[in-house]
Amino acid sequence: DPTTSRPARTTTRSADLFARASAVTPGGVNSPVRAFGAVGGTPRFITRGAGARITDVDGNEYVDLVGSWGPMLLGHAHPQVQEAVLAAVSRGTSYGTPTEPEVLLAEEIVSRTPVERVRFTSSGTEATMSAIRLARGFTGRDVVVKFAGCYHGHVDALLASAGSGLATFAIPGTPGVPESATDLTLVLPYNDRAAVEKVFAEHGDRIACLITEATPGNMGIVPPEPGFNAFLAETCRAHGALFVSDEVMTGFRATRLGGWGLDGAHEGWVPDLMTFGKVMGGGLPAAAFGGRADVMEHLAPSGPVYQAGTLAGNPVATTAGLTTLQLATDEVYAHVDRVATVIREGASAALTQAGVPHVAQSAGTMFSVFLLAGDAPVAPVRDFDGASRQHLPAYAAFFHAMLEAGVHLPPSAYEVWFCSAAHDDRAVQQVLDALPAAARAAA
Ligand code: PLP
Repeated sequence: DPTTSRPARTTTRSADLFARASAVTPGGVNSPVRAFGAVGGTPRFITRGAGARITDVDGNEYVDLVGSWGPMLLGHAHPQVQEAVLAAVSRGTSYGTPTEPEVLLAEEIVSRTPVERVRFTSSGTEATMSAIRLARGFTGRDVVVKFAGCYHGHVDALLASAGSGLATFAIPGTPGVPESATDLTLVLPYNDRAAVEKVFAEHGDRIACLITEATPGNMGIVPPEPGFNAFLAETCRAHGALFVSDEVMTGFRATRLGGWGLDGAHEGWVPDLMTFGKVMGGGLPAAAFGGRADVMEHLAPSGPVYQAGTLAGNPVATTAGLTTLQLATDEVYAHVDRVATVIREGASAALTQAGVPHVAQSAGTMFSVFLLAGDAPVAPVRDFDGASRQHLPAYAAFFHAMLEAGVHLPPSAYEVWFCSAAHDDRAVQQVLDALPAAARAAA
């Protein structure tokens, strides 16, 4: 077996940097999931990327299935994106004035999505934070509804866990979030219409908005059951609440139109507000929220709801995003979709062969694989409880076998495997070749 006879990779430089990082940065990383906490071992310090591949400081090359957690739809160091970014940088990096690239990117987003107005931020967290502030300001109501397992960034009110029962207000999901920040947040099980109906019946006139991922990707991929988003939109409308579709991950990634584009066309649901990030920043810090003109015009300076950002709409970041979206044609999505399908089916076949029960789920070009314990019943994962039945040690073994074979998967079982337009036949074959031994390691 070529994948097991290869000498182990040297990771001394990554280990050294991780030790130094840990002395100056909590946990050695600037975002927790990067630390390999869920899978163990030393995170790889990456020094460059090209197309489908990344290279670490020890010179190891990996086929990358993290893609910076979503943004790198076109692959790393895409020549045209690089050229546009370098040209933008050469003119200057930030002025704190309006610039043309912001207008062009906003026009591109308006042309692809139902939003009529867009406001840029620097992170997805700011986008969701601002969207719920705007929803509260617009409706004059305070309560926010979210689903367990949906991640909307580290906004206090949205870092909430379900309380003891249905239709109870949430408890803080982390120390540091005061109860007062989450006691206006209701957390419901995903795909559960009865739970939604119950809280709207009890609290409907206090609910400012319901926020959901267009198709959840932060508990692994858990698609909405048919009609669920349309049901949410209609329920919100009936109660005078706003429907906020968080497309930070899915936007311009799941499909050309985002997660909304997966079933928006035939189910006719239209969000009042949407949030975007990742792909629309082309690998630089840019995110946005947008929506109905009458709602968005409530923002300062046209309206009373305050929101701002020193680097919001930054000309370099918006240039990277604009160039990325301009290059993200139907052909790009068709290619990424094919690659994702081949890898998902390959993973599933290898796991079946090795006798590892699992569920592979997808939404457009995004997919994830839930590895289960030996005796677990195999059924579609429809909510966070289902996603939590994963067998985490099996994923850790699988992850490390793939890494050793030169494939960098997300270092957490709850994440999407992101493919790109740069994943060519050779990269895909390397992934397929690595899967059987990894599946046996997980068994
Ligand atoms: N919303 C969703 C759906 C996300 O997946 C994320 C990040 O993964 C965020 C919001 C937060 O975005 P950021 O990490 O840019 O703050």
